[in-house]
Amino acid sequence: MASPQIYGLIGYPVKHSLSPAMHNAAFGELGINAEYRLFPLEEEGLKGFLENAGKSGISGLNVTIPYKEKVILFLDKISNEAGLIGAVNTVKITGRGLEGFNTDGAGFLKHLKEDLKFHPAGKKTALIGAGGAAKAISVYLSKGGAESISIYDIDKNRSKGLVEDLKIHFDNIEFYSANSIEDLKINECALLVNATPVGMKETDPSPVDKAYLREGLLVYDLIYNPKETKLLKEAKTAGAQISNGLGMLLYQGVDAFEIWTARKAPVEVMRKALKEATEK
Ligand code: NAP
Repeated sequence: MASPQIYGLIGYPVKHSLSPAMHNAAFGELGINAEYRLFPLEEEGLKGFLENAGKSGISGLNVTIPYKEKVILFLDKISNEAGLIGAVNTVKITGRGLEGFNTDGAGFLKHLKEDLKFHPAGKKTALIGAGGAAKAISVYLSKGGAESISIYDIDKNRSKGLVEDLKIHFDNIEFYSANSIEDLKINECALLVNATPVGMKETDPSPVDKAYLREGLLVYDLIYNPKETKLLKEAKTAGAQISNGLGMLLYQGVDAFEIWTARKAPVEVMRKALKEATEK
């Protein structure tokens, strides 16, 4: 049998990733002779790894922390979305070179629309955090036609910078850099997204006082481990609709799989594999 095509995840650390379970299940389902591996990389190894990836038989990569921005330097081409977001999470490797994409934002929007039946068009939205994930999400909430996006980050320069960037590309949406959680005006919003790592540790507080949470609000936490952060627990108690970030992880993987293979991804197989991997 021919040797399998290689796909994988580069980043540091990568050992807790759920992506191998999801992608290997998809390859198996479609009978594709391929294998998804983990490639933990120190920063000094990034350039050499990418230069040799094609020769080493690697056909595609996902990229995670801390390389989503740095990786762009070593690619031959990036998609318009990846350029707009300023970060790449998916690389396709062919004889023509390395091409970068960003499927995080599209994955988030697909999960909102397809599973949560939430359509951002005409809605007021609030984001906590203005880092890489928030950039991807704000671009796709904008593409989805949100009425407004308010962003708060403890680093005010980061939220101001993101708002200024978004204003350049989307002139029909109201963007606002909030000075505090209160200034996000969550009571007027239909969607609140936590795009900070606050909540990953069991001892972390919620980034939002529970007084801001209510019925009629969708509270989306990008964190999926733990399954329910303190924010999500308090939002549930307050009667809000809640979601963790597992659906975003699924759909960014679905889009990456389709970019690599040009085949329709087996979404339900991937969903099941992810669910099982989180229960291990
Ligand atoms: P990042 O680039 O580090 O951005 C996080 C931002 O939030 C930083 O600017 C950080 O500021 C800020 N911040 C931290 N604590 C805050 C607080 N209490 N209030 C307001 N802002 C605060 O991280 P990222 O790559 O965007 O990732 C964010 C989270 O999303 C992580 O938990 C990551 O695992 C998750 N994620 C999930 C998916 C998925 O598929 N579900 C995909 C991507 C990312 P400082 O740097 O100054 O602390």
